[in-house]
Amino acid sequence: MIDLHCHSTCSDGSETPTTVVRLAAEAGLSALALTDHDGLEGLSEAKKAASTAEIELVQGCEVSCKFSPGTMHILCYFVEVEDGPLQSQLERLRQDRMTRNDRLIGRLNELGIEISLDDVRAEAGGSTLGRPHFAAALVRKGVAESYQAAFDQLLGKGGPAYIPKAFISPEETIDSAAASGALAVLAHPLSLGLGPGPLDSLLASLAEAGLTGVECWYGRYSEQERQRLLRLAERHGLVATGGSDYHGSFKPDLSVGTGQGDLEVPDSALAALRERRAA
Ligand code: AMP
Ligand code: ZN
Ligand code: FE
Ligand code: FE
Repeated sequence: MIDLHCHSTCSDGSETPTTVVRLAAEAGLSALALTDHDGLEGLSEAKKAASTAEIELVQGCEVSCKFSPGTMHILCYFVEVEDGPLQSQLERLRQDRMTRNDRLIGRLNELGIEISLDDVRAEAGGSTLGRPHFAAALVRKGVAESYQAAFDQLLGKGGPAYIPKAFISPEETIDSAAASGALAVLAHPLSLGLGPGPLDSLLASLAEAGLTGVECWYGRYSEQERQRLLRLAERHGLVATGGSDYHGSFKPDLSVGTGQGDLEVPDSALAALRERRAA
């Protein structure tokens, strides 16, 4: 059994890469992919922990892509920590985020709200700053009544302090992953917000663009949903993969490896990815 989708403190998980790796070893997994959002910072620590724990680490990340109506995340596997097109793209996203954070502070100040970047940093514990940390800071300062109210009244799409961020297109992500020696896999396809027909067409076009796989065994999907996605993967010649989307205490229903208790991603999923990579 394996888990190809986990987050650590290097993005928005509650546990360090070392702990995530230890949890995977304790769960008896043969391999684990660390897939933090839009960054590779956790991989070197995870690599060390994996060699101690004698578990295989698949170096990954989860890239937020430009898409509507829903959310598109693309998992990249076999990413090297060294330079490459994917790495530069992630670096550009990070620069954009920093600019955006400054603009967000400026906008909130314009709205008469006293808040500094340090207030927001205090909520992030060293991880990449995003709107969730702004929301937490606004609650702590008594500006918003709750985390959700901070989004509804200020930070959410259409709100007075909404500042969009840069996104990479799915095709660009697939291309730069390939150019960096990595493989691209569509994460949790049901977050795309598409009905069966449009989802089918999208998978066809992404497969055409070089997508390698699709996440079918996802922590929060029902058996029926997993089976439906397995059929879709097969129809489009995509490798079926899976993982828990572990975030530690931030998604307390999900455990490394077993998800909500009913997840079992077969070793063959990783073997199939490897075969595609070799080919
Ligand atoms: P960012 O990447 O900085 O734009 O932050 C995105 C995160 O903010 C998402 O992953 C959600 O956790 C949170 N978020 C975005 N929109 C909302 C919303 N309307 N209500 C609650 N949380 C939201
Ligand atoms: Zn996450
Ligand atoms: Fe995701
Ligand atoms: Fe995730």
